[in-house]
Amino acid sequence: MQLKIADTFNKELPSDTNLSNTRRKVFGAMYSYVKPRVPKSPKLIHVSPEMCENIGIHEDEVGSEEFLNIFSGSELYKETQPYAMAYAGHQFGNWAGQLGDGRAINLFEVQHNKKRWAMQLKGAGETPYSRQGDGLAVLRSSVREYLCSEAMHHLGVPTTRVLSLMLSGDEVLRDMLYNGNAAYEKGAIVCRVAPTFIRFGNFELFASRNDIDNLKKLTDYTIKHFYPELGAPSKEVYIQFFKAVTDKTLEMIIHWQRVGFVHGVMNTDNMSILGQTIDYGPYGWLEGFDFGWTPNTTDREHKRYRYGNQPNIALWNLLQLANALYPLVEEAEPFETILNQYQKDFEDEFLDMMRSKLGLDTKVEGDKQLIEDLEDCLLISETDMTIFYRLLSNYQKGNIDEGLKIVEDAFYNSEEIKGDKKKKWEAWFNAYDKRVNSEPLTDSERRLKMDAVNPKYVLRNYMAQLAIDKANEGDYGLIDDMFKMLKNPYRNQPEYQKWFAKRPEWARHKVGCSMLSCSS
Ligand code: AMP
Ligand code: MG
Repeated sequence: MQLKIADTFNKELPSDTNLSNTRRKVFGAMYSYVKPRVPKSPKLIHVSPEMCENIGIHEDEVGSEEFLNIFSGSELYKETQPYAMAYAGHQFGNWAGQLGDGRAINLFEVQHNKKRWAMQLKGAGETPYSRQGDGLAVLRSSVREYLCSEAMHHLGVPTTRVLSLMLSGDEVLRDMLYNGNAAYEKGAIVCRVAPTFIRFGNFELFASRNDIDNLKKLTDYTIKHFYPELGAPSKEVYIQFFKAVTDKTLEMIIHWQRVGFVHGVMNTDNMSILGQTIDYGPYGWLEGFDFGWTPNTTDREHKRYRYGNQPNIALWNLLQLANALYPLVEEAEPFETILNQYQKDFEDEFLDMMRSKLGLDTKVEGDKQLIEDLEDCLLISETDMTIFYRLLSNYQKGNIDEGLKIVEDAFYNSEEIKGDKKKKWEAWFNAYDKRVNSEPLTDSERRLKMDAVNPKYVLRNYMAQLAIDKANEGDYGLIDDMFKMLKNPYRNQPEYQKWFAKRPEWARHKVGCSMLSCSS
């Protein structure tokens, strides 16, 4: 492999002077040098051919010993200095202090086709930031991160990417349900890829310690490499930087709401400074449409990170970032203006996004009501979000009586749709019919537009679990199948039709399907 190494983070920013791999608080540094742990007997399970191409790895090199060694952490690529990043964060609304890469190790940055990619191994062993953890990851959570990262990318949702999924050959002890039943699971290592893995929490760390010098260095570095269009740092540019991060974050959240993705752990250490979805833990996909749903059992009580709360949490997290950047600007008002604007922009962009899901090209006064009425309908009986929107594109103008029939397969119990519930739906189809009749689009034009924003295939919670169960038996066929299918989530792909189906009943309350803990 001939990779064009182009390190910047560990070349331009201050490092921890302590080189020992011991758990500690790290001051005055952005990262600590640390080598990945050598895994017992690594085995490649899957690679993303697209990411190989993106970073300049040839197909023939994927099966090589060198590839296996570098991306399992067994060997270092020549002239590289791996490191773990220091960051802090707010977890579930509370200040958590120093966190950092406890089980992620950054290998190097690669430049290819004018793009910069930071490569990071997740599950590659202890670092100074591991706190009480072992620095490892299990196969189940690694399969979930691997499949979902690429699936989100193909859905058009900003996200970190992945290069490879490996077994480490080590056994990892996990108490999956936090109920005292710890058991050994297969260890795994994912190589994640993103332009940078800097999070809101990196800024919070320095602000919390009043280390303004490093706060400024980090901000200047981030602007120089990832927001270069903003120009040379100044107070004004820091404000613009915050605005740019706010806009990108908002865009990401709109996408999540569009496809029914629930992150599950929107702590500020899990918020990318690039507005990319990062840290796939106990995430999930809405099956029955429900604002109150979260897959994360750790958050079961307060449901802070439920689907309907994601836009508010993003704003709350942005406020924490604003607080962190404040010392560079020393004026609160510009930040407040931007945060207030987020709320207005969110309303507008959400409305536009929902219009696109409904195939509405023009903007009309009553659209907000139409959308809210639809949400009410979706909630009166369990309705599969993905299937509903995908089927709705078959609606033909004037066929109000056919409306319910067209979307019938989206209901988990269609028998329930009678009486008042049926009336509510019929009223909605009446309003929808009027609305599509006021549009210039033909039925088939509308369908094409809707099918381009309403995915047919998403990584349903039970699908990921089926792939994991097979993988635990040593059969990786389902991982490959899903990987391929999720490359084209908006295409019909009749060969995968069986996955265009509601969640089976057995999966409703099964661990790993709708219930996930942070244990990974
Ligand atoms: P997460 O909730 O996965 O985003 O992780 C929160 C913090 O815990 C981060 O600092 C992680 O690096 C750390 N962490 C999570 N799992 C482990 C583990 N198995 N070993 C060490 N650190 C971990
Ligand atoms: Mg994290």
